[in-house]
Amino acid sequence: MELKLYDTLTREKREFVPIDWQDSSILADRRRVRMYVCGPTVYDFAHIGNARPVIVFDVLYRLLRHLYGEKRVTYVRNITDVDDKINARAAERGISIRDLTEETYKNFKDDVAALGCLPPDVEPRATEHIDEMKVLIERLVASGNAYVAEDHVLFSVPSMKDYGKLSKRPLDEMIAGARVDVAPYKRDPMDFVLWKPSKAGEPSWPSPSGIAAPGRPGWHIECSAMSWKHLGESFDIHGGGIDLVFPHHENEIAQSCSAFHTSVMANIWMHNGFLQVEGEKMSKSLGNFVTIRELLRTDRFGSQRWSGEVLRIAMLRTHYRKPIDWTVAGLVESEKALKTWARALLPFMAKGFDDDSNSSTEFVPRAMLVALCNDLNTPAVLAELHRLVPRVNEGSYEAARALLAALRFLGIGHLPIFGAMAAIEETDDVEKLEKFRDFVVDQMESKVQQLIRRRSEARAAKNWAQSDRIRDELAATGVE
Ligand code: AMP
Ligand code: ZN
Repeated sequence: MELKLYDTLTREKREFVPIDWQDSSILADRRRVRMYVCGPTVYDFAHIGNARPVIVFDVLYRLLRHLYGEKRVTYVRNITDVDDKINARAAERGISIRDLTEETYKNFKDDVAALGCLPPDVEPRATEHIDEMKVLIERLVASGNAYVAEDHVLFSVPSMKDYGKLSKRPLDEMIAGARVDVAPYKRDPMDFVLWKPSKAGEPSWPSPSGIAAPGRPGWHIECSAMSWKHLGESFDIHGGGIDLVFPHHENEIAQSCSAFHTSVMANIWMHNGFLQVEGEKMSKSLGNFVTIRELLRTDRFGSQRWSGEVLRIAMLRTHYRKPIDWTVAGLVESEKALKTWARALLPFMAKGFDDDSNSSTEFVPRAMLVALCNDLNTPAVLAELHRLVPRVNEGSYEAARALLAALRFLGIGHLPIFGAMAAIEETDDVEKLEKFRDFVVDQMESKVQQLIRRRSEARAAKNWAQSDRIRDELAATGVE
């Protein structure tokens, strides 16, 4: 099946063929699909906008694993654990930077797991790749692409002929943007920082050669260093939110292509559109800033709990490149969809139905894979799921199996399907959840078999009242 992905660099949907598959000298079992996605800066709970690239690239990761083999895909998503915002927040809370970044990373990991996202193969931390950053910086200085000025190292933008090819911003616009904050030590207003001195109390490392004072890296060099270390000089896919195109990804390209003398950093550049909340840009000052954690617990009006599956469906209802308006109405719709699917599957919850063999990717409807291979057309995939429902409701085992497999493939019901079932009850009430679970288990075991077993247990325990109650229940089903 041909996979087509939209490439921000060429501004077109292109057929995706991994680099290793284009090189016949690479043995089949050595081939890898390599993907790098810019990860979170860990200083606070991730907001629902941050969840978008995580979910979108998780769907792509699952698709790549299906197309090329689970062991063939290397997905790297970094953790930015050195940043001004981190320093400020740690000072504000009176805790160490390490404690803050560890705590935030753990929360992030739990949040995105609740959204059904698989962990990437590698989650490199910036602070563990300072050596690689310094190697790159020293190379760039040696090749004349960077220079040292007042204890900073700056990338010289005019040294790169085709700077700006990703964002395709007009030069004067980039210069105007850069002029807002022109440091006196810059030779050109567009030059950007690779390394800077640390102030007292800030994290610091011995600087690259030529600078005596200790310092710390700029943000862009982190991703060039970590992608190099874990994926090589050029790799297949680089992703992130649309806000990263300029300057972050533009600068990554400048650094990596200049340091390695390559023309391509990543074969395909993919960017998810932005998320706004109820029609407005999400911001703390507007009071519409919402974290994943809050959504998993309550909505902003205080009570209702959304399951990870609902949040994931709400994200996948919109094509990843379009802007998404995150609304309570959208969540309600998504929950309705989940309930429809879960209810349709409920009668099939006979023993064994919910096991791996039935959720195997071989049962995923072809139409759904075709839609995913068309630049991750998830709205079309969800429409396919809805199309299956009438047949499932008519009792088609095949359709039910396809629905379950498709949900699992999308990372919905990645948790046992019971998780989704329980979540549809919209409750924190443990007793109610347990009852509901019992009900599902009842569906799984033959009702009669189960009653007979429970009656024998009651008798063995000399619990005559219970035994009689079960006898009556059995009588009611026609068994003496
Ligand atoms: P940050 O921690 O701000 O560097 O962001 C981490 C990731 O989330 C990046 O890929 C951003 O592009 C993405 N992101 C941040 N805000 C939004 C948003 N409102 N909508 C979509 N993606 C976002
Ligand atoms: Zn990055």
